[in-house]
Amino acid sequence: MAATALVGINWGDEGKGRMVDLLTESFDVVVRFQGGANAGHTVINQYGKFSIHLLPSGVFRKDVVNVLGNGVALDPESLVAEIRDLKSKGVPLTPDNLMISDRASLLLPWHRKLDVLEEARLKDKKYGSTKQGIAPFYSDKYQKKTILAGELFYPDILKAHLKDLMEWKNMILTEVYGADPVTEEELDAWVKEYCAPIRPYIRDTRAFMLEANRHHKRILFEAQLGTLRDLDYGIYPYTTSSNTLAAYAPIGSGFPGAEIDRIIGVVKAYSTCIGEGPFVCEMTGEDAEFLRRIGNEYDGTPKRVGPIDLVATRYGVQVQAATEIALTKLDVLSSYDEIPLCVRYKLNGQEIDQMPFPAVLGQCEPVIEKMKGWKCDISHVRDWWDLPEEAQAYVHRIEQALGRVVRWISVGPERESIIRRG
Ligand code: GDP
Repeated sequence: MAATALVGINWGDEGKGRMVDLLTESFDVVVRFQGGANAGHTVINQYGKFSIHLLPSGVFRKDVVNVLGNGVALDPESLVAEIRDLKSKGVPLTPDNLMISDRASLLLPWHRKLDVLEEARLKDKKYGSTKQGIAPFYSDKYQKKTILAGELFYPDILKAHLKDLMEWKNMILTEVYGADPVTEEELDAWVKEYCAPIRPYIRDTRAFMLEANRHHKRILFEAQLGTLRDLDYGIYPYTTSSNTLAAYAPIGSGFPGAEIDRIIGVVKAYSTCIGEGPFVCEMTGEDAEFLRRIGNEYDGTPKRVGPIDLVATRYGVQVQAATEIALTKLDVLSSYDEIPLCVRYKLNGQEIDQMPFPAVLGQCEPVIEKMKGWKCDISHVRDWWDLPEEAQAYVHRIEQALGRVVRWISVGPERESIIRRG
């Protein structure tokens, strides 16, 4: 595995964190290339159970260097809290194993405020934002109105730049939204409390990545969220504001010339979706309650759930150019007599098997097929040949629909609950 990307194929929450945590044993460098602290990877290992939002999932492995690339929304408040939490649980984090790109833009105090204000203004047409400031952050980045992490090394330049941005932002806060302005004192306190602690980790990570590549280090690019939330190829406008695709990894990681040999697409054995937007395969009523309960699909509030959606998943595999699949949470389906699969969509009376334009997704209905369940616990299985025939058939059906090999099957949240296929 020289340069590999690990990406979510669905709506997010596929179990990418547990897969990266598992696979980092084969890598020297793990890089986060997009997104912010707006989603959580759950990782369970010898240090305990963690929900990591911004840090790359390689932080738990000794000798792995973790990089936050220039493409991330660098939220100092979240990052400081996460670093403190991990360190307090014995995870070693130093500038030798955690590096932040000096070209990563900072998520500033007004981004969260603006996110909350805009969702409130949208009322029932809201996008379902996590209110972590991600959309206002990326809009500002593309307007060239954020601060680069490297500016923390130049306090005078930083102060003047922040003041200019604050004056402009306060016009929007007060005059567009009628909210309170941010003050210079608040900004100074924020820099002291949240920016000072991350400064030791900031460096020219582009130079580091070039060197790592020159020394044939094995690099893993780690994505946040899923394909259907990609800004350009997802279910716009119910997407995130960054690119979750492997194709963006070289740009967002500080290694624009990277050639990615393998793209591992993480697919969940059924569907879940947090937030707003069309979700064609959505189950309701008791069926949904049941799946939610057995899959523990709650994120503060109940997640939307459904059967595996082979139309959306095939699309996800195509746009990610995934070379192979990691299938997660297969154990969750163990109690079904018959397992439903969404195999096509019905749109205007016609059955289709390709993803339609986002604006008409809401008019699609799922076409459901059922497969026989295996009806036994598979969480202890570690060998493909020990899986019940029905579970193997389910995996084969997915492989056939996606045109890709399922190389890993995850049957539990723990690191070792995995079936590897050759
Ligand atoms: P990510 O954002 O893609 O990393 O996904 P999350 O961590 O948000 O969600 C995945 C959830 O499923 C976490 O609670 C994991 O501990 C759990 N999980 C991951 N893989 C498996 C699995 O194979 N079986 C079961 N039962 N749980 C899993």
